[in-house]
Amino acid sequence: MSVTGLCQVCEAAQATHSCPRCGNAVCDDHWNGGAGACAACMQGRQQ
Ligand SMILES: [Zn+2]
Ligand SMILES: [Zn+2]
Repeated sequence: MSVTGLCQVCEAAQATHSCPRCGNAVCDDHWNGGAGACAACMQGRQQ
C-alpha cells in the first residue's frame, strides 16, 4: 500500500505513511511507528 503526495504535517517531505486515526498522509519524521499514529495525533491526543 503506497501513499502519494506530501506530508500533511510539514508539507515539505514525501508522505510515506497514512495515519489510521486522522487519515493524514505523513512523512517518516511525522510518523510514530510505535504508536501507529502521526505526529499531529501524538501532540493532540484528542482521542
Ligand atoms: Zn512531515
Ligand atoms: Zn493522525
